[in-house]
Amino acid sequence: MNRLHPIALAIFASFMALASFAFGQGRTIVLDAGHGGYDRGGVPGQRIAEKDKTLDVALRLRRILQANGYRVIMTRDSDVFVPLPTRVAIANSYRGASFVSIHFNCASRVGANGIETYYYRSDSASLAASIHRNVVSGAPSENRGIRRRGFYVLRRTAIPSVLVECGFLTNPTEGRLALTGDYRQKLAEQIARGIRREPAPYTRPLTASLRSVSLGNDFVRVPAESFSRHRKSSKSSRHHVSSKKKSRKKKSED
Ligand code: ZN
Repeated sequence: MNRLHPIALAIFASFMALASFAFGQGRTIVLDAGHGGYDRGGVPGQRIAEKDKTLDVALRLRRILQANGYRVIMTRDSDVFVPLPTRVAIANSYRGASFVSIHFNCASRVGANGIETYYYRSDSASLAASIHRNVVSGAPSENRGIRRRGFYVLRRTAIPSVLVECGFLTNPTEGRLALTGDYRQKLAEQIARGIRREPAPYTRPLTASLRSVSLGNDFVRVPAESFSRHRKSSKSSRHHVSSKKKSRKKKSED
């Protein structure tokens, strides 16, 4: 008859507790639905409010992740305004978690379309690539690439952080898609696949008009080049106004 020694049992039990603690930490996701409350997101007077679509995708994503055994923390789960520093503070109170911010894009030019994903911290690059590849492979949209940019929620978070722009609400095709629950569910499923680091079956190459450098399987735009180009056509520059204002202010303070 096999008997476990009490000390061995105690060591085993504490090892398991430690392992499950470490495991549980890695499987905590802080989900951030962009905008909310008086902040509709997008350009002024935009037909489709961004805040509703980001919340809907985030709630769908929460259900999927929870079904996969993840612990999910929401920076908001209703139509309320949450200041960016509060979003960051929530994220930073879960060390060992990852932060995923959900947005939709906008532009004054209706033709602008596609999916783009942002990160800032170098420890976030692989998560950004995984999410981006999965979202692009599941959407009929252009691949606008992965970009490193110091948005407030990416720069101030102390955990791996990614911001995904799930298409342009100002584009007739992508806007119409975003209005359907089926498509928002698909987006949530693809983001979840990315969080789970599942391989994407196929990712369309980066949009030809965008200049890029290829790093392995990832497409990363050259920040210096893309910034001046991007600023003029300005899709996302309107998008995170408060973060930009703050970063500019910070620069002048430095
Ligand atoms: Zn946004």
